[in-house]
Amino acid sequence: MEMEKHYINRSGWLRAAVLGANDGILSTTSLVIGVAAASSSREPVLLAAVAGLVAGALSMAAGEYVSVSSQFDVESADLKREKYALDTMPKEELEELTDIYIQRGLHKDLAREVAIQLTSYDALETHARDELGINEITQANPLTAAFASAASFIIGGVLPLLVAIFAPIKEMLFFQYGFSILFLAFSGVLAAKAGGSNTIKAVLRICIWGTFAMGASALVGYIFGVQTA
Ligand SMILES: [Zn+2]
Repeated sequence: MEMEKHYINRSGWLRAAVLGANDGILSTTSLVIGVAAASSSREPVLLAAVAGLVAGALSMAAGEYVSVSSQFDVESADLKREKYALDTMPKEELEELTDIYIQRGLHKDLAREVAIQLTSYDALETHARDELGINEITQANPLTAAFASAASFIIGGVLPLLVAIFAPIKEMLFFQYGFSILFLAFSGVLAAKAGGSNTIKAVLRICIWGTFAMGASALVGYIFGVQTA
């Protein structure tokens, strides 16, 4: 018999990577399309691609660093408080845990038994999980997370940069749009396959929203291009 497959655990980092790459594709392409709609030479288009790539990667890294380190601070403060409570008032903490299991549907005696056994197995881990909702005490390193999200953004953002270098400048808008939809669809398939979810739905969603974002950027670029021409 085949084991039932669960995707939720392994999809965590992959989901983050795919989201970062999508972000890189979409935001860099949108910027390039906006500039391409307003310009008839290649230099501004290339400059927009490089600037979008660098700025996006740095802002992803900074955002991720701040988010992971504040998450880390909140979790360690919670765990420290919990550890202190477990050390100073174990009886109350056992009662608390018992009540939690009763609320989840266990009978009083069984709840107490479960609370006692889990407390002797690993009190802090049990309280972290069942009281605080912290599932893994292995906390992510903020620097690693920052680096990973910048790297995934760059992987995505390099694609529109390559298109900006090699595509004919006259048809730049269409090449940018076409390739980015292709890249987004590909990453949609990848994400859906990895997460075990519906492929067509994932691809449609990303293509529709991608079209919307790029269309809006093209419109803005076009309006500014017409006004400054
Ligand atoms: Zn507790």
